[in-house]
Amino acid sequence: MEGTTRKRSLLKVIVLGDSGVGKTSLMNQYVYNKFSQRYKATIGADFVTKEVQIDDKQVTLQIWDTAGQERFQSLGSAFYRGAECCVLVYDVNAHKSFETLNTWREEFLKQVDPAAPGNFPFILLGNKIDKDGGNSRVVSERQAKEWCASRANIPYFETSAKEGYNVDEAFLCVARAALANE
Ligand code: GDP
Ligand code: MG
Repeated sequence: MEGTTRKRSLLKVIVLGDSGVGKTSLMNQYVYNKFSQRYKATIGADFVTKEVQIDDKQVTLQIWDTAGQERFQSLGSAFYRGAECCVLVYDVNAHKSFETLNTWREEFLKQVDPAAPGNFPFILLGNKIDKDGGNSRVVSERQAKEWCASRANIPYFETSAKEGYNVDEAFLCVARAALANE
């Protein structure tokens, strides 16, 4: 079983966070280099895939998005099953989305029930840093880093799906973490 997984190098990643923080936009920017200002709830495919080169290894990232149903317990068990890395996203301009992070993290751990929950790879993205030139920001980088430090040093990236800022860098870290957890 483990050998089969290793050969395919298909890595499942799921993206969680409150509605409107930019999860779908981040994925679209990463996979298609596209950004749309228009708000649309996620419909259609459960996941998108992207081929990634990590050192001398070719892997396929399978990134799962919530279908516009960001309420706890509305995501089925198939959504969570087999995830190798979990990306948590909040909006640096919306404090509530930062406060909810822990609930998302705990819901993930409850659903996936990994053998070593303290070591499971999460990555935190603080998105929309471009908004209003930074004037509407309400969560500081320091606050976010403190949150990460108190949870086994979760890697943290500040991103803009709109401008494509730090998106590739963040997902490369995600791919590496998922591969290490394969
Ligand atoms: P989701 O509900 O988490 O999937 O969020 P969406 O990706 O649908 O984005 C919600 C809204 O925020 C949309 O109107 C996006 O255009 C906008 N948005 C997403 N990312 C950014 C960003 O980095 N900067 C700005 N200014 N707006 C963004
Ligand atoms: Mg969405």
